[in-house]
Amino acid sequence: MIQPEQQRRAYLEAMGIDIWVPRDASEPTAEAGALQAQVLDWPALRDCVASCTRCELSASRTNTVFGIGNQDADWLIIGEAPGAEEDRRGEPFVGRAGQLLDQMLFAIGQSRDTVFIANILKCRPPDNRDPKPSEAAACRDYLERQIELIQPKIILAVGKIAAQNLLGSDDPVGRMRGRPHELNGIPLVVTYHPAYLLRSPSQKHKSWSDLCLASRLAAEFSA
Ligand code: URA
Repeated sequence: MIQPEQQRRAYLEAMGIDIWVPRDASEPTAEAGALQAQVLDWPALRDCVASCTRCELSASRTNTVFGIGNQDADWLIIGEAPGAEEDRRGEPFVGRAGQLLDQMLFAIGQSRDTVFIANILKCRPPDNRDPKPSEAAACRDYLERQIELIQPKIILAVGKIAAQNLLGSDDPVGRMRGRPHELNGIPLVVTYHPAYLLRSPSQKHKSWSDLCLASRLAAEFSA
């Protein structure tokens, strides 16, 4: 199998871009990693994520969780990070929160096969702790590249961690939801995380209204 670093060099050479080698060539820099993801196609990006060692979570993960769904999706759903079951299966949003997410998708005429589901982090933080800013930063360009490749019509950020990271905000979900935002020119809507909705079912009507807003924005974006 071609190693990600070889692949990166081959891409850059093919594009006529000079290759700068870090002084300690055995330690790839964050900049080099970012350059790498920006030019990758789906299979290469998937390989790159699968072998990622950019942060300490690579040492404790069982599987990376790349994301799942339609690579040409109109809807991109972004959650927080894999949990224990996701880490075991390599798939995002399995378990009870995932089932509720499936129901939310069903309610807007979508499914796991029509949307793309990803997370801020591709690896599980131990004990389901919140992602560290350094981990989110190390993982960011993988997600950015997924957004570029998918070119969704709407991004739905589910939960505080996704919304705060994507929008660079410290606001609580309650202040970010219910109105349109934008990420890289793509409309973005914030809503509650399905795990929170399982604990607070009385908030479900607000998520429903966020989904309706997201549907409207997606339709306007396509028009
Ligand atoms: N599973 C995921 O994949 N992401 C979350 O945000 C929560 C559970």
